[in-house]
Amino acid sequence: MTSQEINLHEQLKKYFGFSQFKGLQEEVIKSIVNDHNTFVVMPTGGGKSLCYQLPALIKEGTAIVVSPLIALMKNQVDAIRGISSENGIAHVLNSSLNKTEVKQVKEDITNGVTKLLYVAPESLTKEENVEFLRSVKISFLAIDEAHCISEWGHDFRPEYRNLRTIVKRIGDDIPIIGLTATATPKVQEDILKNLGITDARTFKASFNRPNLYYEIRPKTKNVDADIIRFIKQNQGKTGIIYCLSRKRVEELAQTLQVNGISAVPYHAGLDAKTRSRHQDMFLMEDVDVVVATIAFGMGIDKPDVRFVIHHDIPKSIESYYQETGRAGRDGGEGHCLAFYSYKDIEKLEKFMSGKPVAEQEIGHALLQEVVAFAETSVSRRKFILHYFGEEFDEKTGEGADMDDNVRNPKKKHEAKDELELLLKTVKATNQLYKSKEVVNTLVGKSNAVIKSHKTDENALFGKGQDKDSKYWMALLRQALVAGYLRKDIETYGVVKLTKKGEKFLNSPDSFMMTEDHTYEVDSHDGIVS
Ligand code: ADP
Repeated sequence: MTSQEINLHEQLKKYFGFSQFKGLQEEVIKSIVNDHNTFVVMPTGGGKSLCYQLPALIKEGTAIVVSPLIALMKNQVDAIRGISSENGIAHVLNSSLNKTEVKQVKEDITNGVTKLLYVAPESLTKEENVEFLRSVKISFLAIDEAHCISEWGHDFRPEYRNLRTIVKRIGDDIPIIGLTATATPKVQEDILKNLGITDARTFKASFNRPNLYYEIRPKTKNVDADIIRFIKQNQGKTGIIYCLSRKRVEELAQTLQVNGISAVPYHAGLDAKTRSRHQDMFLMEDVDVVVATIAFGMGIDKPDVRFVIHHDIPKSIESYYQETGRAGRDGGEGHCLAFYSYKDIEKLEKFMSGKPVAEQEIGHALLQEVVAFAETSVSRRKFILHYFGEEFDEKTGEGADMDDNVRNPKKKHEAKDELELLLKTVKATNQLYKSKEVVNTLVGKSNAVIKSHKTDENALFGKGQDKDSKYWMALLRQALVAGYLRKDIETYGVVKLTKKGEKFLNSPDSFMMTEDHTYEVDSHDGIVS
């Protein structure tokens, strides 16, 4: 059966009651219906679920959906059951089921009643499940939250890495669909390679959320007071405040309550009943604010969250994007306010110190991007979209003026000569260095790595001494965002020239550099040594 033979609009109306497809949905669905390996990158709320649910309902056999969280699976199954009178149409197969329930699910699959089977990756590794699934008709396999496959993603899960081998055992020619809401170009590449679907048809929606306003403020010891003031200025609006630790969540929730703000805490340390009560209170608007750890938010679809505050800066741009993305889902106002102090970065670095070296390197590289984002003075939207591999015109793009940096621009100055020196230095050191060594070379600061390459004997060594490390680090970051340089991810962030950078070196042009933010309270020199 091909998509030409089916009227997809009719099916959409019949099963979901919608009369229009959203964004790229129709193209994605056609690709799946026609048995192509397919890869979908769509921001949260983009309508990814329907992309595989509709084909599953139409196609012969059962679609397997791999999903990382039992709670999420349950929501999805309930939602699907809501649209169909046939109760067996969607099932979950995971460790929460007892023997009788498992038997019932398997019977429904065998009888062709089950169209969607949600499984946790762990359940797929069980021999008896693999054996069973081999014996029934599978329409395709969808992998939700596919970024969990990549170590470069923000939520790596080792059990996701074996999926390819398992799929092969279930059936060699089963089409594979990967879906995710965040994927840098590197993560995308990882996913496709790991799933063995480099031929996949890829559909990528824009990550731009033009209605979100991005703002970063320095975090001082008065941060709680700053938050209270912000909430009082936004009285009657609902919002989420993210903190790193459970303890901070409890403390801040109390502080807010004492100050007359209706707020509840939410973290994984609370018992399930309290958690679900607090979540419901927030959804039903019995409280304005939920103070939470990152445990809160997955699968929560409250359209009118008006602000997301980060009391502590997140550990990656992906996390920041996901968490701020919970604001303004309805297209209305969404204020994203983060408090930043370099001390918090050091704390996050410390958390990683016990981990395997590769994991630490990745964690460190992701954190450095967060530092660059917090300290940059270029358009925050441009920075975020650049991070996800998307071009954005900071003058004419949608939502161009929706951030603190654009609304209150910092002074700019001509930095043509400095950019030339920076790019020359990258080239002269054979494009072998990460930002730290490039900057050290410019200011003439030696270390073991620099000595080992004899860079301290190079004529360019120390040529940028009239400026400090912080200046060069800021210029380097701006050169990255502007596309003169790029960071090579395979080598954990070695800085390389791009074509644009080469062109600039051949005939240098004007480059207006923006002064970076200086965070006086917890200032640092921008160099982690
Ligand atoms: P994602 O998984 O990408 O975060 P969801 O699949 O949860 O997004 O969809 C987000 C919301 O959009 C849901 O409430 C869903 O019912 C709605 N939705 C999906 N497709 C359509 C459509 N074609 N028309 C209207 N609403 C849709």
